Amino acid sequence: MLMRPSLRSQARDFLLGINRAITAQLDLGEVLRRVLQASLVMLTGRAAFIALREPGSQHYTVRAHSGIDASALAQLNDKVQQLLQPQDGEFNRESLDSQLLAMAHAIDPALAQTIAMPLLFAQKPLGLLVVFRSYHSSIGAGDWTILQSFAAQAAIAVNNAQLYGAIDTERQRLESILNSSGDGVFILSPELGIQRANSAFARMLGWDLEDLEGAPKGDVIRWARLETKDLEGLLRAKGQAAAPAQPWRVAGELLRRDGSVLSISITYAPVWNKQGKLESVIANARDITSLRKAQEMQSVFISTIHHELRTPIAIIKGYASTFAREDVEWEPALMREKMAIIEDEADRLTALVEDLLTASKLQSGPELWLTLRPTNLSELARMAAERLQSQSAQDIELSFPADFPLIEGDEARLRQVIDNLLTNAMKYSPPGSAITIGGRFSEAQVTLFVRDSGAGIPKAEQEKIFERFYRIDDSLTRSEKGTGLGLYLARAIVEAHGGQLSLRSQLGSGSTFFFTLPRS
Ligand code: ADP
Repeated sequence: MLMRPSLRSQARDFLLGINRAITAQLDLGEVLRRVLQASLVMLTGRAAFIALREPGSQHYTVRAHSGIDASALAQLNDKVQQLLQPQDGEFNRESLDSQLLAMAHAIDPALAQTIAMPLLFAQKPLGLLVVFRSYHSSIGAGDWTILQSFAAQAAIAVNNAQLYGAIDTERQRLESILNSSGDGVFILSPELGIQRANSAFARMLGWDLEDLEGAPKGDVIRWARLETKDLEGLLRAKGQAAAPAQPWRVAGELLRRDGSVLSISITYAPVWNKQGKLESVIANARDITSLRKAQEMQSVFISTIHHELRTPIAIIKGYASTFAREDVEWEPALMREKMAIIEDEADRLTALVEDLLTASKLQSGPELWLTLRPTNLSELARMAAERLQSQSAQDIELSFPADFPLIEGDEARLRQVIDNLLTNAMKYSPPGSAITIGGRFSEAQVTLFVRDSGAGIPKAEQEKIFERFYRIDDSLTRSEKGTGLGLYLARAIVEAHGGQLSLRSQLGSGSTFFFTLPRS
């Protein structure tokens, strides 16, 4: 390679400058400008440009230029796009040179020679560096070498920039996955500190996102009750030897920051590096409160049904087997009395099965089928009071205005609501006290109420008693038969009519349940 010593040292200075720009991570535009400048000086060019291939396409765009008029730039860009269509990443050298020259003439007739060098990185074409001279002279091996080394530097800078770009895109993609996820996601360092967490996780635990990041796992994940081994135990017990194909699942009752408790399940996926050291742990947390509640509901359901079915069946079976004894003669009057008990118990069983069926239908779809016709609620109340009075240890009083209006309703269903409110008043208030069932009305609606002088219902229980199978856990309720379905069904029936069922109650001074129904 023939090159004058002064030129050689100038080329070296340029290369150093470009290199410094690359290692200082200056922006790509600045590096490309330096490469162009150096190429122009070293090859005594008049104009030059660098066109880069858009990542993932065959499209080339001019990204840096020198000595080209702003007016000629659009034209240059057009030509570059037509011209630079490499076949399998390779340009046809000769046709490219002549076409570039034709293009140069079109831009500026004074341009007489082109020197083009592809920017290659690991054989991958990333762009093209082109220098135009205003005179023609043969291009020596030295010139090529210079241009080649500048092109190589430019290719490194372009490749870096594309890698940074790709990392940035990935980071943004990860960020939006994290932030749009309904599950809590967090990443732990090898020391088990929280490196990253998403807002769903912060919300779940009642932390601020800013406080979470950097906090030790032990400060954030505090268990009130743990059903499995925790991560630390799993790491100790299994270590990398048992690098799990399936992530590890840890579940239990977790203490949120404010001390409240949350049922949660966390899956941990440890990431090991090639040397077998723990690099990070990616974790996914899910709130399983509703799952737990469903499980609990199921077990309450089974025990309630077991208890409620067993009692009438035992009574029926008891009488039936004594009747079957041949050594006992039964008085007809006594026999009729026992038969009436059997019939009552059979009715209770039927009602229970009916309630269960309605409740399960309501579970699968909130629609209740109603048969509407003009209904006299005060008459329904009077009949219910009369029927129940014989079994009641309380006095049932009626309080309806004489002109209480008819409404459109499903008689059988509304009778069920009234029966439930009245029997509850009977079950949950002391013998000898008063129970009142009465009504009021306005232009738009009627209201029916059942008032008792029982123990009352604590504030915290006042919404819960309308839930399926919910019964207050106290000695009074325990001493009475019931499934906890009555108020759940009553509210569903009233709401299906477009009305509302609620209560007013104070501990020690009784409860009033009332429901409204629209008049039209
Ligand atoms: P059940 O009476 O079959 O248990 P309900 O759904 O009718 O079921 O009532 C739910 C719970 O609400 C009852 O178990 C009882 O604890 C409470 N409750 C209902 N009515 C009254 C009332 N009038 N006074 C006090 N507690 C009541």
